[in-house]
Amino acid sequence: MAFRRLEDADVSGARVLVRVDFNVPMKDGIVSDGTRLKAALPTINALHKRGAKTILLSHFGRPKGKREPGMSLGAVMQALSVLLDTKVHFADNCIGDRARFAIDAMKDGEVLLLENTRFHPGEESNDPALARQMAALGDIFVNDAFSAAHRAHASTTGIAALLPAFAGKAMERELDHLEKALGNPQHPVLAVIGGAKVSTKIALMENLVSKVDMLCVGGGMANTFLHALGKPVGTSLCEKDYAPTALAIISAATKNDCALLLPSDVVVAKAFAANTPSQIVGLDAVADDDMILDAGPKTVAALIAAMDHAKTVIWNGPLGAIELPPFDRATNEAAKACAERTRAGKFISVAGGGDTVSALNKSGAAQDFTFISTAGGAFLEWMEGKALPGVEALKI
Ligand code: ADP
Ligand code: MG
Repeated sequence: MAFRRLEDADVSGARVLVRVDFNVPMKDGIVSDGTRLKAALPTINALHKRGAKTILLSHFGRPKGKREPGMSLGAVMQALSVLLDTKVHFADNCIGDRARFAIDAMKDGEVLLLENTRFHPGEESNDPALARQMAALGDIFVNDAFSAAHRAHASTTGIAALLPAFAGKAMERELDHLEKALGNPQHPVLAVIGGAKVSTKIALMENLVSKVDMLCVGGGMANTFLHALGKPVGTSLCEKDYAPTALAIISAATKNDCALLLPSDVVVAKAFAANTPSQIVGLDAVADDDMILDAGPKTVAALIAAMDHAKTVIWNGPLGAIELPPFDRATNEAAKACAERTRAGKFISVAGGGDTVSALNKSGAAQDFTFISTAGGAFLEWMEGKALPGVEALKI
């Protein structure tokens, strides 16, 4: 994928507007998970070393176009200063005189954080006037927020059209890995798709069956497939209205020579609760009052066998109700197998999705995956094969 990269930019002494994603979780006014701040460090440090004036732009929360004191990025400044080990300046507006004065006062190599872009209604409507006002503050634009790339907002695509625009280091890493995983992968490719509902991942599965060699469907959404195939699902989460969709995906898989791996055994319980008594059963033995909460050991073994044929594994969605142990078992075992094989150099593995990433982190498997996307929605839209406007704006 050809796009403009930070290393191609002449940033020394330049005012560089960097779009980051500092939409971090907070607890009592303190950043409770700094993953997204850390993701921006390589870009900020590179700019610092090369003597640029780094001006950070980000959204934070959903203030709906007006100033909300509780959604000020000022709350993030301290945590960022600590991570960077340097003072981070702050301006309480991302446009206008306040921002301009703060920028005029910057020395080369310094870092300035501007206030929440979403305090302006023009951010989400991609208002050209707002984009012009932001662009006027800098010489160069760097987008390092892949997780915001699926939205055409003033601070993602609007500015990119007005200034020389480059991908930051985190964006570059995302794009290079996503290209290796699905854009131009080594075959055979195995996709593991799980999660709660078929309805949220139809477009994704339709795209995948035409691109990958093996598709494993797990989690609550597999119940809809089982139901569509005439299997009993008891009181399980199951979108019965989507049975025709599931059948269409099955036939598209066949047409495209994509091997479809559905559960062959399941773990059932009587209640949606942690540590509730459970049982491993075959597909025909699910009782009327049973709830399928995880994939069974035969299913996991079949998935691991599929991994042993793969050169590329791409994963979104847990295989069971991961929040309720022991129904995180299939996900954890498959993740462990995937991590081990990645470490042994058998294939490259890329995973993404909010719940998927937290499950992989919790199991300890994440660190051995080739790449873990920090994006939720953008990762899913990319898996759907959609063009992401924030990325399109960086293409050569
Ligand atoms: P991601 O955020 O990684 O894209 P999803 O949001 O699609 O993943 O799915 C995660 C959710 O799916 C989890 O909350 C998990 O509990 C739920 N889930 C998975 N399997 C089941 C199941 N068998 N029954 C009910 N919920 C399930
Ligand atoms: Mg989710």
